[in-house]
Amino acid sequence: VTARKSSYRSLTSLARDLSRCRDCLEEGFPLFSLPVRAPLAVPRQRAYLFGQAPGPLEGVERLPWRGSAGQRLREWLQLGEREFYATFYCASVTRCDPGRAPKRGDRTPRKRERELCAPWREWELRLLRPQLIVTVGGLALRNLLGFPKLTPHIGERYSHEGATLIPLPHTSGASDWVNRPGNAERLERALALIREERARL
Ligand code: SF4
Repeated sequence: VTARKSSYRSLTSLARDLSRCRDCLEEGFPLFSLPVRAPLAVPRQRAYLFGQAPGPLEGVERLPWRGSAGQRLREWLQLGEREFYATFYCASVTRCDPGRAPKRGDRTPRKRERELCAPWREWELRLLRPQLIVTVGGLALRNLLGFPKLTPHIGERYSHEGATLIPLPHTSGASDWVNRPGNAERLERALALIREERARL
């Protein structure tokens, strides 16, 4: 049963309530996992990674970025697993596996699901106060900065709630974004910016 407080004083109590959230299911949306939670690191992560939604493997393990998209992301960032989870508090637009799309890839969470999940993100950002935010994919970027398109923003640096925000494309194998003309160079610029920001954390 979902339990949400009107305010949270720690990420631990937030994570406890988030792990039991069933709001979307109670409104009739199909979900294929319980919420996937960010592993809390000691010392606390200084960067916030914001993706679209977990996939089936993440849903089973209840840990973010476990599948091939996560492996590709770590390759891009040149980080091993331990350093990746110690650097980034991993979150997403919605936190439960939304199931597969009828043709290919994962189902995109509906507007109402995104609204129901947004308070978890808002509280995380308030409590974590990250110095760096990295969005992964168009939906994550649109949710935070409202940009309707992804490509013009890859390789650029923005600011959000006191943090530097750097967008990345989605790492899913279902996306051919990287192979389109000019995009490999955009991605290289974005990864160089992230390396630069990480060096300052
Ligand atoms: S997607 Fe978010 S709001 Fe919906 S049930 Fe999962 S944790 Fe709750």
